[in-house]
Amino acid sequence: MGAKIISGKEISQEIRNELKKEVQELKEKHGVTPGLVTILVGENPASVSYVTAKQRTAHDLGFHSVQENLPEDVSEENLLNLIKKYNEDPSIHGILVQLPLPKHISEQKVIYAIDPRKDVDGFHPVNVGKMVIGEPCFIPCTPAGILEMLARADVEVSGAEVVVVGRSNIVGKPVAILLMQKRKPVGNATVTVCHTGTRDMLFHTKRADILIVAAGRPKVITGDMVKEGVVVIDVGVNRIGTTPEGKAILCGDVDFDSVKEKAAAITPVPGGVGPMTITMLMKNTVESAKMWAGLPNEVG
Ligand code: NAP
Repeated sequence: MGAKIISGKEISQEIRNELKKEVQELKEKHGVTPGLVTILVGENPASVSYVTAKQRTAHDLGFHSVQENLPEDVSEENLLNLIKKYNEDPSIHGILVQLPLPKHISEQKVIYAIDPRKDVDGFHPVNVGKMVIGEPCFIPCTPAGILEMLARADVEVSGAEVVVVGRSNIVGKPVAILLMQKRKPVGNATVTVCHTGTRDMLFHTKRADILIVAAGRPKVITGDMVKEGVVVIDVGVNRIGTTPEGKAILCGDVDFDSVKEKAAAITPVPGGVGPMTITMLMKNTVESAKMWAGLPNEVG
């Protein structure tokens, strides 16, 4: 069976077009321009490329966007002071500190320092708590992107057996919680979470109607581990080499070639979940701007 390819690139473009229109309307009708600051510490190449892509997208959508580049050896205190400054800046509705941070800075302190009402990454415990009890909040961007892909690809989630491989705070745990919430169209599923302590992975992956893989291990899910007709969301981004031109060669956590033979639908890597993550960051920032302006919104 040839699987339908769920293109994050296309869905993402669709959403960005919608956001662009919305930003224009916010400016014209309400005098509101969504503002996003991205804070980069050091020069980790992956972080630099993520932040550059976020800034470029924010700029394309018509945001007020600010980039802060701090040296690798910046003190924790200086970083916290910068966050405080943007917490108080009314032109900024979203604050993103690119992770990971150098070892001498506590990520926990940094996440806690961001005003939860500007926490467009959705990592602050206030937002995590609200997400768990099903209140409006900032939902972390990668899980939010997965939900949006399932919705726009018309995947029947309610009642489905969903298996999530991975239990990180940024992907596995939140996506599992969101999909089991009593909400439609994307929710109301029966969710199982697998991790390195799972005794019999095959038993779980084989019975999944929807399989979401965020293990950070190249091609850990193969065709013999899934059932016919499964919908597969591959979150993994693994650098497995470089082209002669020096570009990274990427693969997912799923062995695309063998799994696509059995799947009803599958996301590719690259071009799957990746572009959705950035798009949902933009959506969170637009929703935040609406919240701060007292307009109807999805986050507060
Ligand atoms: P992480 O923090 O490294 O967590 C990986 C999880 O997978 C852990 O819970 C681990 O179990 C589990 N795991 C690892 N190997 C396994 C195996 N063989 N069988 C079962 N479970 C296994 O990773 P993450 O931050 O969630 O990221 C996962 C992947 O998604 C990475 O490739 C990352 O680059 C990618 N990612 C992509 C995006 C995007 O926008 N596309 C965003 C975020 C992450 P334990 O808890 O037992 O260790």
